Amino acid sequence: MTVFYNFGGNMYINITNGCPCDCVFCLRKNGDSVKDNDSLWLEHEPSFEEICDAFDRFDKTGVTEAVFCGYGEPATRADMLIKTAEYIKKNSDMSIRLNTNGLLRLMPKYKDFDLEKFRGLIDCVSVSLNAPNAVRYIEVTRPKFSEEVNKNAFNEMINFAVDMKKICKKVMFTVVDIISQEEIEECRRLSEKLEIPLRVRHYITDNESYT
Ligand code: SF4
Repeated sequence: MTVFYNFGGNMYINITNGCPCDCVFCLRKNGDSVKDNDSLWLEHEPSFEEICDAFDRFDKTGVTEAVFCGYGEPATRADMLIKTAEYIKKNSDMSIRLNTNGLLRLMPKYKDFDLEKFRGLIDCVSVSLNAPNAVRYIEVTRPKFSEEVNKNAFNEMINFAVDMKKICKKVMFTVVDIISQEEIEECRRLSEKLEIPLRVRHYITDNESYT
Protein backbone atom coordinates (compact mmCIF):
# COMPACT_ATOMS: atom_id res chain seq x y z
CA MET A 1 0.00 0.00 0.00
CA THR A 2 1.56 3.32 -1.10
CA VAL A 3 1.03 6.06 1.48
CA PHE A 4 4.21 8.02 0.74
CA TYR A 5 5.86 8.28 -2.66
CA ASN A 6 8.51 10.38 -4.28
CA PHE A 7 7.56 12.69 -7.10
CA GLY A 8 9.97 15.26 -8.50
CA GLY A 9 12.07 15.07 -5.34
CA ASN A 10 9.12 15.86 -3.04
CA MET A 11 7.46 13.42 -0.66
CA TYR A 12 3.81 13.00 -1.67
CA ILE A 13 1.25 11.74 0.81
CA ASN A 14 -1.68 9.53 -0.13
CA ILE A 15 -4.04 9.11 2.83
CA THR A 16 -7.33 8.57 1.01
CA ASN A 17 -8.93 7.72 -2.31
CA GLY A 18 -12.10 9.53 -1.26
CA CYS A 19 -13.23 12.65 -3.09
CA PRO A 20 -16.49 14.58 -3.35
CA CYS A 21 -15.76 15.50 -6.99
CA ASP A 22 -15.33 13.78 -10.33
CA CYS A 23 -13.19 16.23 -12.28
CA VAL A 24 -13.14 15.71 -16.02
CA PHE A 25 -9.33 15.89 -15.99
CA CYS A 26 -8.73 13.68 -12.93
CA LEU A 27 -5.53 11.67 -13.23
CA ARG A 28 -7.20 8.70 -11.62
CA LYS A 29 -9.08 8.03 -14.86
CA ASN A 30 -5.82 7.39 -16.69
CA GLY A 31 -4.01 4.84 -14.57
CA ASP A 32 -3.20 3.52 -11.15
CA SER A 33 -0.24 5.71 -10.30
CA VAL A 34 2.19 8.44 -11.35
CA LYS A 35 5.58 7.85 -12.94
CA ASP A 36 6.98 4.52 -11.78
CA ASN A 37 5.43 4.52 -8.31
CA ASP A 38 3.31 1.58 -7.13
CA SER A 39 -0.46 1.75 -7.30
CA LEU A 40 -1.97 4.68 -5.43
CA TRP A 41 -5.28 2.89 -4.97
CA LEU A 42 -5.35 2.09 -1.26
CA GLU A 43 -6.48 -1.30 0.10
CA HIS A 44 -7.96 0.66 2.99
CA GLU A 45 -7.54 4.14 4.41
CA PRO A 46 -4.31 3.92 6.43
CA SER A 47 -4.53 4.26 10.20
CA PHE A 48 -2.32 6.75 12.03
CA GLU A 49 -0.01 3.90 13.07
CA GLU A 50 0.31 2.74 9.45
CA ILE A 51 1.01 6.31 8.31
CA CYS A 52 3.72 6.83 10.96
CA ASP A 53 5.28 3.48 10.16
CA ALA A 54 5.33 4.25 6.41
CA PHE A 55 6.81 7.71 7.08
CA ASP A 56 9.55 6.25 9.29
CA ARG A 57 10.48 3.74 6.56
CA PHE A 58 10.32 6.22 3.65
CA ASP A 59 13.68 7.31 2.21
CA LYS A 60 13.60 11.03 2.97
CA THR A 61 17.11 11.81 1.73
CA GLY A 62 17.18 15.30 0.25
CA VAL A 63 13.41 15.80 0.58
CA THR A 64 12.45 19.30 1.72
CA GLU A 65 8.72 19.39 0.93
CA ALA A 66 5.86 17.07 1.86
CA VAL A 67 2.71 17.33 -0.27
CA PHE A 68 -0.73 16.08 0.70
CA CYS A 69 -2.11 15.03 -2.65
CA GLY A 70 -2.33 11.39 -3.71
CA TYR A 71 -5.21 9.67 -5.44
CA GLY A 72 -8.02 11.47 -3.66
CA GLU A 73 -8.92 14.65 -1.82
CA PRO A 74 -6.76 14.76 1.34
CA ALA A 75 -9.26 17.00 3.16
CA THR A 76 -11.86 14.20 3.21
CA ARG A 77 -9.68 13.01 6.12
CA ALA A 78 -8.91 16.43 7.58
CA ASP A 79 -8.45 15.08 11.12
CA MET A 80 -5.93 12.47 9.93
CA LEU A 81 -4.28 15.06 7.70
CA ILE A 82 -3.64 17.23 10.77
CA LYS A 83 -2.30 14.33 12.86
CA THR A 84 -0.03 13.33 9.97
CA ALA A 85 1.20 16.90 9.47
CA GLU A 86 1.97 17.13 13.19
CA TYR A 87 3.97 13.91 13.00
CA ILE A 88 5.92 15.13 9.96
CA LYS A 89 6.68 18.48 11.59
CA LYS A 90 7.83 16.73 14.76
CA ASN A 91 10.06 14.30 12.92
CA SER A 92 11.50 16.33 10.05
CA ASP A 93 12.29 19.84 8.80
CA MET A 94 10.05 19.52 5.75
CA SER A 95 7.66 22.25 4.73
CA ILE A 96 4.14 21.00 4.07
CA ARG A 97 1.88 21.76 1.13
CA LEU A 98 -1.76 20.81 0.82
CA ASN A 99 -3.20 20.31 -2.65
CA THR A 100 -6.96 20.52 -2.29
CA ASN A 101 -10.24 21.22 -4.04
CA GLY A 102 -11.07 23.63 -1.20
CA LEU A 103 -14.47 22.07 -0.49
CA LEU A 104 -13.64 20.89 3.02
CA ARG A 105 -16.43 22.86 4.71
CA LEU A 106 -19.06 21.49 2.33
CA MET A 107 -18.38 17.99 3.63
CA PRO A 108 -21.04 17.29 6.31
CA LYS A 109 -18.41 15.96 8.73
CA TYR A 110 -16.39 19.17 8.52
CA LYS A 111 -19.06 21.84 8.08
CA ASP A 112 -17.86 23.59 11.25
CA PHE A 113 -14.18 22.86 10.70
CA ASP A 114 -11.89 25.50 12.19
CA LEU A 115 -9.19 26.34 9.64
CA GLU A 116 -7.01 27.57 12.52
CA LYS A 117 -6.15 23.90 13.04
CA PHE A 118 -3.93 24.19 9.96
CA ARG A 119 -1.90 27.05 11.42
CA GLY A 120 1.75 26.17 11.86
CA LEU A 121 1.25 22.84 10.06
CA ILE A 122 0.34 23.70 6.48
CA ASP A 123 2.90 26.09 4.98
CA CYS A 124 1.39 26.28 1.54
CA VAL A 125 -2.01 25.46 0.10
CA SER A 126 -2.74 24.94 -3.56
CA VAL A 127 -6.45 25.26 -4.29
CA SER A 128 -7.98 23.94 -7.52
CA LEU A 129 -9.80 26.92 -9.00
CA ASN A 130 -10.58 24.99 -12.18
CA ALA A 131 -13.06 27.44 -13.67
CA PRO A 132 -13.90 31.16 -13.79
CA ASN A 133 -17.48 30.88 -12.52
CA ALA A 134 -19.93 28.66 -10.66
CA VAL A 135 -21.60 27.19 -13.73
CA ARG A 136 -18.38 26.11 -15.39
CA TYR A 137 -17.00 24.95 -12.05
CA ILE A 138 -19.79 22.38 -11.72
CA GLU A 139 -19.28 21.24 -15.31
CA VAL A 140 -15.53 20.76 -14.83
CA THR A 141 -15.38 19.35 -11.29
CA ARG A 142 -18.78 17.58 -11.16
CA PRO A 143 -19.22 17.74 -7.36
CA LYS A 144 -21.23 14.89 -5.89
CA PHE A 145 -23.12 16.91 -3.25
CA SER A 146 -26.82 17.69 -3.56
CA GLU A 147 -27.83 20.11 -6.30
CA GLU A 148 -28.41 22.80 -3.69
CA VAL A 149 -24.96 22.36 -2.15
CA ASN A 150 -23.27 22.12 -5.56
CA LYS A 151 -24.52 25.61 -6.34
CA ASN A 152 -22.37 26.92 -3.47
CA ALA A 153 -19.29 24.89 -4.33
CA PHE A 154 -17.49 27.55 -6.38
CA ASN A 155 -18.03 30.27 -3.76
CA GLU A 156 -17.04 27.94 -0.96
CA MET A 157 -13.80 27.02 -2.75
CA ILE A 158 -13.01 30.73 -3.19
CA ASN A 159 -13.82 31.46 0.46
CA PHE A 160 -11.58 28.60 1.55
CA ALA A 161 -8.63 30.03 -0.41
CA VAL A 162 -9.22 33.55 0.91
CA ASP A 163 -9.54 32.30 4.50
CA MET A 164 -6.36 30.22 4.18
CA LYS A 165 -4.42 33.39 3.29
CA LYS A 166 -4.76 34.33 6.96
CA ILE A 167 -3.52 30.93 8.11
CA CYS A 168 -0.57 29.90 5.97
CA LYS A 169 2.37 31.58 4.28
CA LYS A 170 1.44 30.82 0.72
CA VAL A 171 -1.84 30.20 -1.11
CA MET A 172 -2.12 29.58 -4.82
CA PHE A 173 -4.77 28.61 -7.33
CA THR A 174 -4.41 26.11 -10.12
CA VAL A 175 -6.33 25.62 -13.30
CA VAL A 176 -5.92 22.84 -15.86
CA ASP A 177 -5.75 23.95 -19.48
CA ILE A 178 -8.78 21.90 -20.54
CA ILE A 179 -10.87 25.08 -20.34
CA SER A 180 -10.65 27.71 -23.07
CA GLN A 181 -7.93 30.34 -23.25
CA GLU A 182 -10.57 33.03 -22.59
CA GLU A 183 -11.66 31.19 -19.46
CA ILE A 184 -8.06 30.86 -18.30
CA GLU A 185 -7.71 34.63 -18.71
CA GLU A 186 -10.90 35.11 -16.66
CA CYS A 187 -9.39 32.87 -13.98
CA ARG A 188 -6.26 35.00 -14.10
CA ARG A 189 -8.25 38.19 -13.55
CA LEU A 190 -10.12 36.61 -10.65
CA SER A 191 -6.83 35.44 -9.11
CA GLU A 192 -5.35 38.92 -9.44
CA LYS A 193 -8.42 40.47 -7.81
CA LEU A 194 -8.08 38.06 -4.88
CA GLU A 195 -4.27 38.50 -4.83
CA ILE A 196 -3.74 34.76 -5.07
CA PRO A 197 -1.25 33.62 -7.74
CA LEU A 198 -2.54 31.30 -10.45
CA ARG A 199 -0.65 28.36 -11.87
CA VAL A 200 -1.87 26.90 -15.16
CA ARG A 201 -1.33 23.15 -15.32
CA HIS A 202 -1.07 21.34 -18.59
CA TYR A 203 -3.57 18.51 -19.00
CA ILE A 204 -1.75 15.23 -19.15
CA THR A 205 -2.94 11.74 -19.88
CA ASP A 206 0.20 9.72 -19.31
CA ASN A 207 0.60 10.50 -15.57
CA GLU A 208 4.24 11.43 -16.14
CA SER A 209 3.67 14.99 -15.01
CA TYR A 210 1.79 15.77 -11.86
CA THR A 211 0.35 18.57 -9.83
S1 SF4 B 1 -10.66 16.86 -6.75
FE1 SF4 B 1 -8.72 15.87 -7.31
S2 SF4 B 1 -8.98 13.69 -6.78
FE2 SF4 B 1 -11.03 14.64 -6.79
S3 SF4 B 1 -11.83 14.20 -8.85
FE3 SF4 B 1 -10.87 16.25 -8.88
S4 SF4 B 1 -8.76 15.90 -9.57
FE4 SF4 B 1 -9.59 13.90 -8.93
